Amino acid sequence: MRVARSTTTRDVVLEDLADPSPGPGEVVCRVLACGVCGSDVSDGYVSRKLPAVLGHEVVGEVLATGAGVDTVAVGDRVVVHHHAPCGDCRRCRRGHETLCDRFRTTALDPGGFAEQVRVEAALVPELLALGALDPLAGTFVEPLGCVLRALDRARLTAGDELLVVGAGSNGLLAVAAARARGVQRVWIREPRDDRRRLAEAWGAVAHTDEPVDVAFLTTASEAAIAGAAAALGAGGVLCLYATTKAGAALGVDGEQLFLRELTVCSSWSAGPRDMRAAYDLIAGGVIDPLALVTHCVGLDDTARALDLQRRGEAIKVVVVP
Ligand SMILES: [Zn+2]
Ligand SMILES: [Zn+2]
Repeated sequence: MRVARSTTTRDVVLEDLADPSPGPGEVVCRVLACGVCGSDVSDGYVSRKLPAVLGHEVVGEVLATGAGVDTVAVGDRVVVHHHAPCGDCRRCRRGHETLCDRFRTTALDPGGFAEQVRVEAALVPELLALGALDPLAGTFVEPLGCVLRALDRARLTAGDELLVVGAGSNGLLAVAAARARGVQRVWIREPRDDRRRLAEAWGAVAHTDEPVDVAFLTTASEAAIAGAAAALGAGGVLCLYATTKAGAALGVDGEQLFLRELTVCSSWSAGPRDMRAAYDLIAGGVIDPLALVTHCVGLDDTARALDLQRRGEAIKVVVVP
């Protein structure tokens, strides 16, 4: 099979590897589609993993199953998650399942930008049946799951006023998810007119200076963080969804944090419950993410896919091997 391996944050080489075969409890899938995530083009975040076959927003068709697999069969089309928590350790029990040791060590072999992936046994129970869903829509289960988890960590409730900063694919998914959860007032801050209009079409209103309960940041720009912190009303929550550079300080006034009981939270990745909630919203037709797909490219064009996402030319690029 062919795979697209990132050797640096800008270089991708196509390689031929032996087709994977499933061990006991494992599954091998033909990759039908794999979305490009913001984290795949976040240099500081991704450079630690390289060289690697990136891509974790995967939809596949089961090609082979290992001994003992009885939850899926050859020919099934599935949404694949790339991490699974143990559900039992201290971190899992405290609601930090994405920080679980098993979560961090489970992975797809070799990664989603490949013709096939081997799904290790721990991940097989997390496979979600694609059913009649378009594979491209299925690639949004993972990113939407991450967004839902972040909104939960920010304790967003229907009566809250939400500010979403950045109307890329994650910001737009946050707008849609909040609306789906009954949030009436969703504000958007986005410098680009085309993207801001898209967020407005999805139910957000351009933000000026209204105080908000939760600010959801899809950018790590210092000015954006400081601006969002300043927009928080008393008791507000600043939810960091994009990683800042290592060592970067946050532009949040400590006195304001204390006197106004502000909370800063972050959220990384998605657990099984978030994946299922995202799947239900997409499969149930509550959120239709297909409008976010601006580019579909073949595996040979993975480098271009990453580039389109990095430059912000695309809202969402999906690699279709
Ligand atoms: Zn992702
Ligand atoms: Zn655990």
